Amino acid sequence: MECEQLAAFYEEYALGVLEGEERAEMEAHLARGCERCTAGATEARRVVSNLALAAPEAQLPSGLRGKIMEPVRLSAAARAGAPPVNTAAKREVFPAWAWIAAAALALITGYAIRQMGNQNSQLAALQKQMKLAIAQNVALQNQLDESRMVASVMLSPDSTALKLMPKDKNMPMVHAYLHPHMGVAITADQMPAMPSARTLQLWFMPKQGAPMSVAIFHPDANGVIALVAPVKMPVAEIAALAVTEEPAGGSPQPTSAPAWMAAMN
Ligand SMILES: [Zn+2]
Repeated sequence: MECEQLAAFYEEYALGVLEGEERAEMEAHLARGCERCTAGATEARRVVSNLALAAPEAQLPSGLRGKIMEPVRLSAAARAGAPPVNTAAKREVFPAWAWIAAAALALITGYAIRQMGNQNSQLAALQKQMKLAIAQNVALQNQLDESRMVASVMLSPDSTALKLMPKDKNMPMVHAYLHPHMGVAITADQMPAMPSARTLQLWFMPKQGAPMSVAIFHPDANGVIALVAPVKMPVAEIAALAVTEEPAGGSPQPTSAPAWMAAMN
């Protein structure tokens, strides 16, 4: 621990109620002769004993024992040069209730500071979880929107349904629903898994000119494809739809022969 962290424990150490790892750290640190912490601990002892000395005499509540009282007794007795058993004699010098008050204050302060630290990290963790939940919700919402759009395009009487036949007879068929305004919906299932370095790419093959890239996509974990892409050319100019396999990110122009294809009438 650094001096800054140990500073939170000076009072508890001065009261003799610091325990475990923190106490060991403090002792080892002070044994190394750190000037700052030695001064800090000395000041804490001074503050704590002044608190005790300044406090008026009072009767010690009989039930108070244990963690706080015992070390206080011992340290007070050591100061008074008396054996620790003689509690009645030293109570006049160090009113026990004031020690308890000082000890409780120090403990509560240290505890509150540590709790605050815990709460801050808990808050940060919660905020992180919330961001994640929001992102997941957005993803789900997007998925839902996509599914709704796919369904709308599929069900529209204005859509042209096309079956893209696979070049490889073992591959499933890919369905396309071409709507002049809502876009083109692509669906397939039982698609084999694809390496992430590869992607599928849909093209419009125009009656004249070069293929136009429409969408890049990947089967999901269940082998399902369901997406809608905008139709950016007059449907009447489209001669065919083709799907090629391309490197991840897609290609400006097809780099392989179509793996699926459907001609427009
Ligand atoms: Zn130090």
